[in-house]
Amino acid sequence: MEGEKRDVAIVKMGATDTSELSDRRASPNENVTATPLCRFCGTPLRQTFVDLGMSPLCESYLSAEQLNQMEPFYPLHVRVCGNCFLVQIQEYVSAEVIFSEYAYFSSYSDSWIAHAKAYAEQMTTRFYLNTNSLVVEVASNDGYLLQHFVAKQIPVLGIEPAANIAPVAVQKGVPTLVKFFGTITARELVAEGKQADLLLGNNVLAQVPDLNDFVAGMKILLGPGGVITIEFPHLMRLMEENQFDTIYHEHFCYFSFLTAEKIFAAHGLTLFDVEELSTHGGSLRIYAHHVEDSSKVVSARVHELRAREESVGFARLDRYHSFAEQVKETKCKLLEFLIEAKRAGKQIAGYGAPGKGNTLLNFCGIRSDFLDYTVDRSPHKQGKFLPGTHIPIYPPERIRQTRPDYLLILPWNLKDEIMKQNAYIREWGGQFVVPIPKVKLYP
Ligand SMILES: [Zn+2]
Repeated sequence: MEGEKRDVAIVKMGATDTSELSDRRASPNENVTATPLCRFCGTPLRQTFVDLGMSPLCESYLSAEQLNQMEPFYPLHVRVCGNCFLVQIQEYVSAEVIFSEYAYFSSYSDSWIAHAKAYAEQMTTRFYLNTNSLVVEVASNDGYLLQHFVAKQIPVLGIEPAANIAPVAVQKGVPTLVKFFGTITARELVAEGKQADLLLGNNVLAQVPDLNDFVAGMKILLGPGGVITIEFPHLMRLMEENQFDTIYHEHFCYFSFLTAEKIFAAHGLTLFDVEELSTHGGSLRIYAHHVEDSSKVVSARVHELRAREESVGFARLDRYHSFAEQVKETKCKLLEFLIEAKRAGKQIAGYGAPGKGNTLLNFCGIRSDFLDYTVDRSPHKQGKFLPGTHIPIYPPERIRQTRPDYLLILPWNLKDEIMKQNAYIREWGGQFVVPIPKVKLYP
């Protein structure tokens, strides 16, 4: 699926045969315990946020041969900390297994590249970056973002754990260190005389199992007057818009601004600005500086967002308890629609094979009994089957051949783009269906 960073094709380390794509057979992680502790503050996690049952890893697409084999399912049980309100899941599958072998090739997505380019322009102007600065990106992928700083002759360093994509970044002129980021890596870089003037991480904070070590590492690597920017999906939008399908095993944490602020403060970092972005169904970009740095003022946007989150209850546990019911209701409504359509003899096909689609379909128990097939523009996914539900993935041309009555758009964050590209289904009276925030038909 093209679109944002998480929705693009995955490619296995050095493999050209994509049948190896779904070899993600991990053994259960021994760090998983019955009553887990909050990965930020250590409080025992006794409160459920939402339990989405058992689900396979959302990016482990299957080949035809694998359909007859056992398939690992792991709990998608999300808890909320009663002390700091960090929403989180246990590391059911270790991050090393998930992220060392697989890489998301960000450059496949046009919209994400445009986002990265605009970011480089903004930061260079706002923070006066120049040929003496150093920009460091954690989870730098194939250099999709740092290349824009390179074009301005601003020195950069990428840090990326997936060894297979470092050479791609290097080709773009982006020096890349193949490592997981944390205090050890940060100290090594500082010992080499490297400190960042701009230190950034996009869609990586949620994927870090040792959150404290990661943020502490950022504190170490940040130069005295430097700025950190981090982008992550905003928990407030996830809850308000019912985006439970963005919960995957790969996303260990889900942050409100209030909780993010507490975590950074605990590591000597002050959040001095925040932007609300439309990416991934609604993300935050937070800006941090050293608590000792008095050269920057805290923006009105910080005060405003903090007040807004407090006013809708994000600093109270009961606000979090309402989410599970909301999710159940969404599931019932979607199933009601599908059952009614099937009873009326309608054909339903899916559009897209994003990770979020897999959470949705597995949680709702939607298989080829409801969805005849799905399609995806990524050649890496075509000819495969969705994990768990085993719905086949075809190239988009299949839609015209079979003329379905309904097309269920799984990457709802890209619905406008998808409806435009596939407007031709109206030739035979086809209609679009968007499942989230609630089932909606677009005739
Ligand atoms: Zn906590």
